[in-house]
Amino acid sequence: MLTAEFIAQTLRAHALRLTPSRRAVLEVLVAAPFALSGTEVEQQAPTSLDRATLFRTLRLLEQKHLIHRVVDYTETVRFAAAPALRAASPPLGPPTEHVHLKCLVCQHLYCLPHVPVPAVPEAGGYHVTRRDCLLSGICERCQPGSAAS
Ligand SMILES: [Zn+2]
Ligand SMILES: [Zn+2]
Repeated sequence: MLTAEFIAQTLRAHALRLTPSRRAVLEVLVAAPFALSGTEVEQQAPTSLDRATLFRTLRLLEQKHLIHRVVDYTETVRFAAAPALRAASPPLGPPTEHVHLKCLVCQHLYCLPHVPVPAVPEAGGYHVTRRDCLLSGICERCQPGSAAS
């Protein structure tokens, strides 16, 4: 669990004030072991958030690279905290692009922060601004014999 002071410092470093919604969204996403949809964040938030505020907060925190979206083959967009935030160190500097894994058993989307997105050949005349790499498989918890299962 992040301390209020750490969250306040992190927001200040990004020229953002500490508000109840920003604090709630960051707390929920940092504590979550996998990416959460806006609705899931809303359900887990300690204080009730109205949807407009929630989605505005998600967009703002995403712009500041404190959270990032994780996409799969469904229409649901999910969000995860920046890996540095999860490690309770201030996520300053450019975000690290990493691979995500979708577990075919529990259907959750996990960040693999230590697995960088592999290099791809030249994209021809296209200007690439974002690279998503999604693996499918079975997460640690869902593997047979896992202590957590
Ligand atoms: Zn799983
Ligand atoms: Zn991620």
